[in-house]
Amino acid sequence: MKQVDYLILGQGISGTFLSFFLFQEGQTFHVIDEYRPNTASRVSSGVINPVTGRRVVKTWMADDIIPFAKKAYNKIGYFLRLENLAQEISIIDFVPTPQMLEAFHKRITDEKEESMTFHQNKELLRTRFNFPFEVVEIKSSLNINIWELLTAWRDYLKKFDLISEKKFDWNDCLVATNHVEYNGISAKKILCCEGVEGMNNPYFKSLPFAFNKGEALIVSIPGLSKEHIYKMSYTIVPLAEKDLFWVGSDYERNYIDEKPSAMFRAMVENYLQHWLKLPFTVVEHIASIRPANLERRPFVGLHPVFPSVGILNGLGTKGASLGPFFAYQLAHHLVYNREIELLADVKRFEKTLTIRK
Ligand SMILES: Cc1cc2nc3c(=O)[nH]c(=O)nc-3n(C[C@H](O)[C@H](O)[C@H](O)COP(=O)(O)OP(=O)(O)OC[C@H]3O[C@@H](n4cnc5c(N)ncnc54)[C@H](O)[C@@H]3O)c2cc1C
Repeated sequence: MKQVDYLILGQGISGTFLSFFLFQEGQTFHVIDEYRPNTASRVSSGVINPVTGRRVVKTWMADDIIPFAKKAYNKIGYFLRLENLAQEISIIDFVPTPQMLEAFHKRITDEKEESMTFHQNKELLRTRFNFPFEVVEIKSSLNINIWELLTAWRDYLKKFDLISEKKFDWNDCLVATNHVEYNGISAKKILCCEGVEGMNNPYFKSLPFAFNKGEALIVSIPGLSKEHIYKMSYTIVPLAEKDLFWVGSDYERNYIDEKPSAMFRAMVENYLQHWLKLPFTVVEHIASIRPANLERRPFVGLHPVFPSVGILNGLGTKGASLGPFFAYQLAHHLVYNREIELLADVKRFEKTLTIRK
């Protein structure tokens, strides 16, 4: 039987950073991940935006999480020899409504928020876009090439026989108080980073998951500068490949399946025809389900009743920033017994998880 410290289920952004940080702390592990091209991490645009919502407020714990994410991507990027994994970029936000214009005015003029300014060169933008009001430039954003990261880390794991590319089946997993066994592997703990598959996890399925579907078009837009992310009702994000951009997304709670829908494509194409002054061609249409939850806070830590089972899930719409931060917290909780942020610690659901079976 192969002995490791940790069995990690899933190699999305959560499982990637969790295995990386455990590896950095000298722990042994084995990852199980069935390859699927349309997981949330692979469909994601990988944008870290420090502001959110109609009132353009800072995202939760932004001052801690975003600088941490930047360092974490640089660290793993250096390890895997990936250049430009995390690109600093500004977001050109075409303010869509008078209400949002007011909110931006409040943040920039009254509250002197330094990460945003009213954009000065609107005339150049008018040669590329149609837009109704002012334009705000949001600095300190990051554009992460998550696909490249997942592929490079997977290749590294494959090289050292640290990953099984198969579907994991809970029926074959023995969970004891102080260890787990699965298909010839024995580990101290199993750490579940399954994304939306978490709803089928017998230990954590009672958590308040509230998934939503998101879609995007991959669009070729020759002539559009890749120096910025562009945002109005949809977001245009530069990709590494020549002339290609990711354009999305929506947040559909009442979805029928996880497939790309004709309705989304029609709506975005129509929107782009009015917003963009440049010609464009759609080259691909992708979709996935976000592992969101009712509280909009992640699920991190060990099961209160089964201490050999842990979780990192519920990253919702913010996996690119929350993933590295909470993977580090979980890794350091496991190795050094450090505290997990209370609002993210899964032990807040102790009651729900205790009456699971
Ligand atoms: C359209 C869209 C756009 C997005 N844009 C952004 C963005 O710009 N910025 C941002 O921060 N977030 C964004 N997100 C959200 C982000 O993608 C998620 O928060 C994040 O990817 C979740 O990562 P994860 O590792 O928890 O889950 P996943 O990426 O779903 O990974 C889970 C992995 O576990 C594997 N797995 C699960 N069960 C099993 C099993 N039984 N056997 C084997 N393997 C298994 C799956 O195959 C998968 O590889 C976006 C999401 C979508 C859908």
